[in-house]
Amino acid sequence: MTDYKETGILSLDDIKKPSEDRLKKGPVVVIECVENIPCDPCVAACPKDAISMDEITDIPSIDFDGCIGCALCVTECPGLAIFVVDCTSDPCTITVPYEYLPVPEKGEKVFALDREGKRVQVSKVVRVRSSGKTYGITLEVDRENIWKVRGLEVKR
Ligand code: SF4
Ligand code: SF4
Repeated sequence: MTDYKETGILSLDDIKKPSEDRLKKGPVVVIECVENIPCDPCVAACPKDAISMDEITDIPSIDFDGCIGCALCVTECPGLAIFVVDCTSDPCTITVPYEYLPVPEKGEKVFALDREGKRVQVSKVVRVRSSGKTYGITLEVDRENIWKVRGLEVKR
């Protein structure tokens, strides 16, 4: 049993993770959307039809093998619930949605945060996507932190 309905904070038991084999092949989506809300922009955002749902209130279903890790869904999700993890090199990277100011710049060092907003490590910003409805910020993250880091705090 998990208690995210009381705390608002998901645990790893609440989300579907790609396999270790899939992680080795390239960047891949992680969707942390667990409520049956009427929402589906993630489905339309995906150019590979890797996200699907039968009804608009369904929890999104993910085809990890079909995903190319483009992160287009990350910047279209109004719930800020989608991430892209890339563990094909060290450090790994995580693309997280971001809606605060100031927006970090490429090359800037920021605090990488966990799901509770606690600082996990200092991370370098390696890419800033601004083409969607929200920013998608790609951070370098130590391999042991890829299932912890889900946000960022600008240091300046
Ligand atoms: S990262 Fe790209 S390919 Fe993967 S699910 Fe999202 S939109 Fe589709
Ligand atoms: S767009 Fe985001 S919040 Fe909406 S169903 Fe997809 S993952 Fe969930």
